[in-house]
Amino acid sequence: MQFLEKLNPQQREAVETVHGPVLILAGAGSGKTRVITYRIAYLIEKVGVSPDSILAMTFTNKAAAEMQERVEHLVGGRTLAKPVISTFHSFCVRVLRRDIEALQINGKGYRKDFAIYDESDQQSLVKSAMKRLGIDDKQLTVRNVLSRISHAKNHLLDPQEVYLQSGDPKVERIAQIYKVYESELAKANALDFDDLLLMTNKLLKTSTEVRERYNRRFQYVLIDEYQDTNRPQYEIMRALAGTLHNVCAVGDEDQSIYSWRGADIRNILEFEQDFPEAKIVRLEQNYRSTQNILEAASAVVKNNLKRKGKNLWTERMGGAKVGYYEAPDGENESLFVADYINKYLMIAHDEDDEPKRAAVLYRTNSQSRLFEEAMRRYGIKYNVVGGFSFYERAEIKDMISYLKLIQNPSDSVALLRTINTPTRGIGKTTVEQIERIALETNLPLWDALGHIVEQRLMQPRACAALKGFRELIQDARAMLYGKFEERLVETAQVSKPEESDAAEPEIADEDLQDNMAFDFGELEPDAEEFSPEALGTAEEAAPEKVEGFRSPGENANVSEVLKFLIDRTGYIKQLEAEDTPESLARIENLRELVNAAMDSRDRGETIADFLDHAALVADTDDIEAGAQVTLMTMHAAKGLEFPLVFIVGMEEGLFPSSRTLMNPDEVEEERRLCYVGMTRAMRILVLSRARYRRRYGTDMPDASTASRFLSEVPPQLFEDIGSPQKKTPVFGDDSYSTHYDYENEDQRPQYGRTKQKTSYGGGSTYNSIDNIAEFFASRGKKFNRPSVPMEEPHGKRGFRPGQKVKHPKYGEGTVYQREGEGEEAKITVQFPRFGLKKLVEKFAQLEKA
Ligand code: ATP
Ligand code: MG
Repeated sequence: MQFLEKLNPQQREAVETVHGPVLILAGAGSGKTRVITYRIAYLIEKVGVSPDSILAMTFTNKAAAEMQERVEHLVGGRTLAKPVISTFHSFCVRVLRRDIEALQINGKGYRKDFAIYDESDQQSLVKSAMKRLGIDDKQLTVRNVLSRISHAKNHLLDPQEVYLQSGDPKVERIAQIYKVYESELAKANALDFDDLLLMTNKLLKTSTEVRERYNRRFQYVLIDEYQDTNRPQYEIMRALAGTLHNVCAVGDEDQSIYSWRGADIRNILEFEQDFPEAKIVRLEQNYRSTQNILEAASAVVKNNLKRKGKNLWTERMGGAKVGYYEAPDGENESLFVADYINKYLMIAHDEDDEPKRAAVLYRTNSQSRLFEEAMRRYGIKYNVVGGFSFYERAEIKDMISYLKLIQNPSDSVALLRTINTPTRGIGKTTVEQIERIALETNLPLWDALGHIVEQRLMQPRACAALKGFRELIQDARAMLYGKFEERLVETAQVSKPEESDAAEPEIADEDLQDNMAFDFGELEPDAEEFSPEALGTAEEAAPEKVEGFRSPGENANVSEVLKFLIDRTGYIKQLEAEDTPESLARIENLRELVNAAMDSRDRGETIADFLDHAALVADTDDIEAGAQVTLMTMHAAKGLEFPLVFIVGMEEGLFPSSRTLMNPDEVEEERRLCYVGMTRAMRILVLSRARYRRRYGTDMPDASTASRFLSEVPPQLFEDIGSPQKKTPVFGDDSYSTHYDYENEDQRPQYGRTKQKTSYGGGSTYNSIDNIAEFFASRGKKFNRPSVPMEEPHGKRGFRPGQKVKHPKYGEGTVYQREGEGEEAKITVQFPRFGLKKLVEKFAQLEKA
C-alpha cells in the first residue's frame, strides 16, 4: 500500500484501525485531516469497503470538495461510486429531503419541498414577529433575539419553557417572539439552519426504520474539526454510528472557536464515555510550520488556563522569525501588507508542496475594505472570503426568493420579498391586509392572497396588482412543473380517480425517492430492488429515468424560468434605466445567476438542489482558484494553510474583540482563535497593528493598545520588520519596548544592513524583500529575483513593480509588472481611472511619480 508510506506511525495506526471508534486529539498541522482522507482511501483500497458506505463530515463545503478530490487522487479514480463527503448541514438537507415526512412534531408534519431560511430570512421573520407583537424595544436587537432563539433551540427548549424559566421581562418577550417565529416557520413549511440539524436528529431518534436504513447504508463515519461540533451534531453522529461504532473523529481543543455558535467541549469528553472501547490517538509532529512559528503559536495558547496542554514539534527547524509591524495608521498597515505580498509573489517559487499563496487574516469581515483597496492599488489578484458573498447580494436574493416562492408558495418570507420587487403597485397597506387575513384564517400568505383575489376583497386596483403577481408566479410554476402536473393528473385518474388530491404527494414521493437515491448513491447499495440487475437495463425497466429521471420540476429549466422572471418583472429594464455603474454590476450579477442555473442543470441538478446550494454556500466557498491572495477572517481560515500569513489589527478591542474583554472564557476563545490564525502559516508569519485607527468613520483620538497576544509571543522569536520610527514603546511592557525603540536605522537589529529601502506611505522604510529572500536562502531554496534587481536604485534599469509612476495621458498609476529587458522592456501599469495598461517602456513617457 504505497500511500501509507506517507504517514508517520501514529497516523498510520489511526488509518489502519478501521473497526471500532477512534478519537484523534492533536495540535494544528499534525495531519488530522490527512488521516481522515487517507483513512477513506484505505477503506476503499485495502479493506475493500464500498465507497458509498463511507460518510465523512467536514466543516465547510470547500473542505468537503477538497477531500473528495484528494481521495479520488489516492484511489486513482478507480471507483465509480463516491464516498459521501459533506458538511453536517448539507448532509442533513439530503436526509430531510428524503425522509422528513416520517417526522411528526406535535402531530404536524413537514413536506419535502421545505424552504431553507438563511440568516436574512430569519431576520425578516423576527422583525415581522416583533412588529406583530408590538414589541419596539430598543434593547432587543433582531440579532440578539435570533441568537437567543438559536441558543434555546440548541438546548432543546421550546418557547413555553423559555417563558417559564425566566422571571426576566426581556426574556419573556423573547419567548413570545420565539413562539411566533416558530409558528411562522411551520406555516411557511420552512426550516432554519438550526432546524436542519435538530430535525435530522429527531428523525434519526424517533424513526427506527429511518435510522436503521442509514446505519445499513453508512458503515463508516468520519468527522473532521470535531472540537467545533455542537450538541445536535454530536447526537446525529452517535445515531449514525449505530451499533458498529465505526466512527473516527479528529479535533484539537485548542482550536475550538465556535462555542458562541453552540460548539460543545463536552463532545470530546463524552466520546470516551459513549464509546468506551475508543482508541485514542495522539499526533505530535507538525508538518506545516517552521519551528519559530510553531513555538510562537504554542507560547500564545499556553496562556489559556483551561486546556490540557500538548507537545508539538516540527522538523522544519528555525525559519524566519515571526515578523512584527506597527503601522502609524490603518491605511499604512494595509499598504505595508500589500507591498510585502507583492514582493513575495515576485520572488517566491511555486513548489509542489507549497504553492505561492498568501493570506491576510483579520478578526471581523469589515476589516477587509482597506486591504482590498491596497491590493487593488498594487494590482494584486485577491479573493475576499465572506462578507458579501454572491448569494447575499440584493438582486440575487430577490431572484432566489422568486424561485423559492415558485417552488414552495407557502414560503411567506419569499413572498414578502418579491411581492413588490420590482415595484408593481402593491403598497404597504395592501401587504398588511394580506398579513391580517393570513393571521385570521391561519393560512400562508399565498393562500390569503389567492382568497383576496378570488373574492375581490380589496379595491379593484389593489386586486388587479395582486392578480398580476399571482399569475406571474403561477405561470412560472407551470413552466417549471407544467409537464409534471399534467402527468400527475393523468396518473391520478388512472390510479385513484376518486382521490385525485391525494395523488400528488404519492407521485412526488416516488420521484423524489429516485432523485435522492441517486444523490446519495443508492441508500442501500445491496437492496435488490434498486440494483440495475433487478431493474433490467435502465431504459427498459425505467424509461422515465432516462429523461425525467429526477424529481418534479427538474425537466423545466431553472435558467429559463429565471430569464422569464427577469423579463416579465422588468427587473433588468429597471436597472438599465438607472444606468449607474452599480446598477450595471447588478445586471451582470443577474446574468451570472442565470449561468449558475445553467451549470447546475448541466450537473443534472433539480431546482431544489439549486436552491439548497444557494442557501448553503458558506463563506469559505468563495475561495476562487487562481487568486494568490486570500483575505478572510481567522474563523474562515480554519483547516487551511498558506506559506505566508498576516494577522492584522492586533489591537486590544479589535483582537481580542471588545465584546469579549469582560469575560475570561471568551478571551480564552479569542486566544484560541489567535492560535488558529498563527498556525495557518507554513513559512512566514507577520503580525501587525495600527497605532491609530479610524472606527465608525471617526479617527480614534487615542493610540490603540497592542493586543495582549503580541506580548505573549516570546521576544526572541519576534522581530520588527521595519515599523516606521517611533519613540513610544510598542508594548506597555517596558522590557519589551526597548527591543524596538531604536533611534535611527543603524540601530535596527539584523535588517539594517541593506542599502536599498523602499519607501512608501508616510515615508517609513522597511525591507521585507530581504527578509523573505534571506529566509529562502537560509532554507537552501532558490528564489527568483525579479528581472530588475531590487538593490539597483530606480532610474538606471527601469521601473519596478509596486512603484508609483506618472503618464502624460493616464495620470498616476502603479507599476504592476515588467517583462523583457532594454529596448524590449514592456511595462504593465495599473491606472486608477483607466485600469491595466501594457506599455513599451521606451516610448511610454513614464515618469517617477
Ligand atoms: P489543522 O489542525 O490546522 O486542521 P491538521 O492536523 O488537520 O491541521 P493537516 O492539514 O492534515 O493537519 O496537515 C498539515 C500539513 O502537513 C498538510 O500540508 C499535510 O499534507 C502535511 N502532512 C501531514 N502529515 C504528513 C506526513 N506524515 N508527511 C508529510 N506531510 C504531512
Ligand atoms: Mg485539519
